Amino acid sequence: MTRILVIDDDDLMRAFVVALLEKRHYSVAAANNGLAGVALVTDSDFDLVITEIVMPDMEGFETIKHIRRHKPAVKILAVSGGGSSKGDYLKFATGLGANAVLAKPFEPARFLEVIADLLKSGPHGGDAPAPM
Ligand SMILES: [Mg+2]
Repeated sequence: MTRILVIDDDDLMRAFVVALLEKRHYSVAAANNGLAGVALVTDSDFDLVITEIVMPDMEGFETIKHIRRHKPAVKILAVSGGGSSKGDYLKFATGLGANAVLAKPFEPARFLEVIADLLKSGPHGGDAPAPM
């Protein structure tokens, strides 16, 4: 089963994303800040981490750096609603190793599409090799 970790300090947003993913039968865990999220990533094997950028305790940039360093194979989707700076935030997140980025607010269908694409892509964000 595909395992996804959702890291977001916004309770409503986190609950919404978790419900959306569970409805698609993904196995989902959640954390409300980067520190808690990184602890979960270190202890278990997730296929994908979805992290918000602006959070207390450990923000998304540190979270992405940490995950990239310790779990190089896990896919990372960075999301941000950081007002007028969100474009810059997301560009920076890509530089730190996020495989995909998505600005809030997003359409649930688009969100699920990005996740499905990420999960079938190769370990470094490229497309998986075509079947022989
Ligand atoms: Mg936030």
